[in-house]
Amino acid sequence: MKVLSGLNLKEIEQITDDLGATKFRARQIHNWIYLKSVKSIDEMTDLSVKFRDELKKVAVVSEIKIKVKQVSSDGTIKYLLEYPDGECVETVLMRFDNRANLTACVSSQVGCAVNCSFCATGKRGFIRNLSYKEIVEQVLTIQRDTGLKVTNVVFMGQGEPLLNLDNVLKAMDMFNENFQIGARRLTVSTSGIIPKIKELADLDMQSTLALSLHAPNHQIRKQLMQIENKYPMAELHKALKYYTDKTGRRITIEYLLIKGLNDTLESAKQLAYYLKDIKCNINLIPYNPTAQNDYQRPSNNSIMKFKALMEHSGKKVTVRLERGADIDAACGQLSGKAGK
Ligand code: SF4
Repeated sequence: MKVLSGLNLKEIEQITDDLGATKFRARQIHNWIYLKSVKSIDEMTDLSVKFRDELKKVAVVSEIKIKVKQVSSDGTIKYLLEYPDGECVETVLMRFDNRANLTACVSSQVGCAVNCSFCATGKRGFIRNLSYKEIVEQVLTIQRDTGLKVTNVVFMGQGEPLLNLDNVLKAMDMFNENFQIGARRLTVSTSGIIPKIKELADLDMQSTLALSLHAPNHQIRKQLMQIENKYPMAELHKALKYYTDKTGRRITIEYLLIKGLNDTLESAKQLAYYLKDIKCNINLIPYNPTAQNDYQRPSNNSIMKFKALMEHSGKKVTVRLERGADIDAACGQLSGKAGK
């Protein structure tokens, strides 16, 4: 049985060819899947009943299941999705009040080998990579469930996207060509996989690179992120410089603010120094406390002081709005609860 979600037009044409139908039928099916987000072949009402019956014998729209769905009072929707092999990942839809954007935060792996100290997903270890079709299915599931059209995709869910780069790149192509989501509306995040950052720079894509830096120096980063042992900040700096020089594009630096650990004025000064020759914007994320560790959120006053110091260094700084604070919004929390 073929799964239509995740197939490109050529692959759908192969199915319609086998059924003795025209390429026009393939185009209709493609529109139903990607633009109208149908849940079943029966909803493809401009196909004859006879052809739909033929199609149902060889294909289904999707095999993914929504295992858990949580809706926050701010409109954020968090899904735990189950693939046919029983593995689950999280996908989040975020809406921002003053913008028309609908951003899907997708997972790229089941589990994660990077094991950052603040992340529930990392505690599970690495299970497997997701195929590009499985990544694309996450966005299609959101569209099917909400009836809304996703406008932006960020690879910031479970997994390290650059350790599954082939599938992430193919999924980005699919978003571009089949969902008509422009490359500038796609963001890939990384914990700092240096060789892959260089590879991305050489590909010269239009999408945004987001780096989860989270620390102003080697000692603090080592404490937060084991990846610092393999790819230390000094080397990472060279890779970031290579990326911005090669592409001319700004990197987004993600910085989780944790009370007493990396939110001090000394940390702000060190961070400003580290980034002084890197073309970047800075996104400060006040830590959202979980049961898994003792990290605390800084006070609003220290967040604002930290922000002001970074702005003084000439960078554009935003404090990320807390989304889905009343649901299990931190990475890995939902799958942890479901026992996977
Ligand atoms: S934060 Fe991201 S890279 Fe780090 S362990 Fe979690 S999923 Fe992996």
